[in-house]
Amino acid sequence: MEKLIKAVISSSSSSLVNIIAPFEIRYLEQCLNCIESDANSSPRGDSVFFTSPDEVLKEIGEKNIRLDIEKLKSNSERLLSLLNKIKEGIEESFTSINENEGLTKTKADESFWEELRDFARENSVVIGFTRVPRNLIFKGKKILYPNAIVLAMEMEKSEINKAPEQDAGVESIRVYAELGEAANKIAKFLRNHGFKAQVSHPLGGLVLYPLLAAKAGLGYPGRHGLLITPKFGPRQRLAAVFTDIRNMPYTDSQEHKWISDFCSNCGLCVKECPSGAILETPIVNQNGTQTTIDQKKCFPYFATNFGCSVCIKVCPFNIMEHSKIKETYQHKKDEILKRSG
Ligand code: SF4
Ligand code: SF4
Repeated sequence: MEKLIKAVISSSSSSLVNIIAPFEIRYLEQCLNCIESDANSSPRGDSVFFTSPDEVLKEIGEKNIRLDIEKLKSNSERLLSLLNKIKEGIEESFTSINENEGLTKTKADESFWEELRDFARENSVVIGFTRVPRNLIFKGKKILYPNAIVLAMEMEKSEINKAPEQDAGVESIRVYAELGEAANKIAKFLRNHGFKAQVSHPLGGLVLYPLLAAKAGLGYPGRHGLLITPKFGPRQRLAAVFTDIRNMPYTDSQEHKWISDFCSNCGLCVKECPSGAILETPIVNQNGTQTTIDQKKCFPYFATNFGCSVCIKVCPFNIMEHSKIKETYQHKKDEILKRSG
């Protein structure tokens, strides 16, 4: 059994490395005048399983492994086609940078932003606009342009609610593939209007998405480290398109910060995570960001089970209306204030 698990972990990690690394290494080498991560940047979360599958394997032991080989076989055709779409999307995100050559426009008309929102909606994507702080670029990575269109695409509730069955994992892979495709279409949309664009693919991207999306006012990260939004709760994948359009209508907001307070009194995901990967007390990093997940525990479970998503399924924001949770939270807060004051 251990051999099999090891093989699954190694092949998941190495297929990711094989897809991303050749394009990314070439891009980073050639990106001489790019915007770089800074001393406060965090490494990309997947670096732990890219570099030490053995150590990751040791963390989990065999007790939590529940790889369903028969199910994996029955899903294999669909999975292969999705993985192929992800591969093509990642490749296009790097190769299409060449199409920026000769594009010089840096100011958009008022009407452009509405057209862009409509186009994103047609592709099942919700967007926000923000400037990228250097500390949200992953350590050692670079981006070409300072402004970001942050993209969110929903994962189907009916599939996520099957977690930890493989169907939930397949759904998250589906959205990685489709969001990658949509991000490339949005970059093309920008280029067709005369603007430069660079795609950061949802899988193995260049920036810390949940915090960038929170900065863009789309939502706020929960204790499971995933973004929680009014529209999709914790059920979305994220990506970005960078551009140098100067008059971007930033959507920055702190409106959803209350979610962090709600989370400190909830903790359901911490309790229900099958691998004990969600930290009871998040680690506050030097740059002020928080580490909430132990990737060495989450990834083996995720890989050997071909998906997990239990933390998404049990989150109250997946189960109840966002507005109802906010109303109840606000009511309780008002009551406490009244009593203490
Ligand atoms: S995906 Fe699963 S293993 Fe990973 S943090 Fe969420 S519940 Fe835990
Ligand atoms: S399950 Fe509870 S603690 Fe975890 S992210 Fe959701 S609301 Fe926050």
